[in-house]
Amino acid sequence: VKDLGRGDYEFFTEDMNKAVEERLILARELKLAVAENKLELYYQPKITQESNRLCGVEALLRWNHPELGFISPEKFIPIAEDNDLIIELGLWVIKSAFAQLISWQEKGLPSIKIAINISTKQLQTQGFVGSVERALHEFQVPPQLIEFEITESAAMDDPLKSIENLKALRNIGIDIAIDDFGTGYSSLAYLKSLPIQVLKIDKSFVMAMDKDENSAAIAKAIISLGHDLGYKIVAEGVETQQHIDALSSYHCDLLQGYFFSRPLPSIEMEKYMLSADIC
Ligand code: C2E
Ligand code: CA
Ligand code: CA
Ligand code: CA
Repeated sequence: VKDLGRGDYEFFTEDMNKAVEERLILARELKLAVAENKLELYYQPKITQESNRLCGVEALLRWNHPELGFISPEKFIPIAEDNDLIIELGLWVIKSAFAQLISWQEKGLPSIKIAINISTKQLQTQGFVGSVERALHEFQVPPQLIEFEITESAAMDDPLKSIENLKALRNIGIDIAIDDFGTGYSSLAYLKSLPIQVLKIDKSFVMAMDKDENSAAIAKAIISLGHDLGYKIVAEGVETQQHIDALSSYHCDLLQGYFFSRPLPSIEMEKYMLSADIC
């Protein structure tokens, strides 16, 4: 810690204490919320670029704390990862998404794919694949309707363990997508050694495409190279018609973003499904 003079120094440590304290409070509250089943999944549509059809949804965690309000997963997922809470929370997400899929089927709604975010720690936990298999069996979910989104860094971190589990998941019939693609350091050559089917271009590139030629060039290159290697490409963070026009000219397969819809609670998602053309 730099001594910036007495006042600044105290201010700084006070700030740090505050941050630590906030994390502790959130960790405790999160544990409670998980135990009491207080978290919820929202669903965001993925749309085919060519024919504007609903082709799947991504499940996204939402935590509405009675006093603190909505807390972003960007904030609480890392806290859950620091504890082992992510294992329990992650399995809750998987089972809830499976239950939702079956409930939609039972209501006669169209069968669309659900993508589930899996954290690095989950992927590398002993017994993870077994717990997924048991959940598939318990809810009688066809694995073809399930996709796992793994960040690029998760695949890179301890790659042997990751590859082993990814291969096992793939053998079960679950599709694997690399999330936030372009932000990590993996070469496409390395990716080829992983059993993946989908690349998701990180929203930072998509959202900068209008103003920044480099971002547009990167998005275009990812799509073109990705296609040559046999991957489907999803763009996230699609907010404007310009984004769509550019991504269409690059032949991106699927689009996801606020332009089409924000993530929706399941009731709202059902309405969306009823009014959408399905792929
Ligand atoms: P992600 O997996 O990259 O998810 C995409 C994020 O972008 C979501 O934020 C989504 O709401 C947001 N988004 C979608 N379209 C747009 C758009 O057009 N513009 C902008 N500005 N944002 C858009 P969200 O829901 O806050 O989630 C943040 C991150 O938290 C996720 O990033 C993911 O890494 C993590 N997360 C969320 N749910 C889960 C979960 O169930 N398990 C795990 N392990 N992580 C999760
Ligand atoms: Ca994701
Ligand atoms: Ca992402
Ligand atoms: Ca992300």
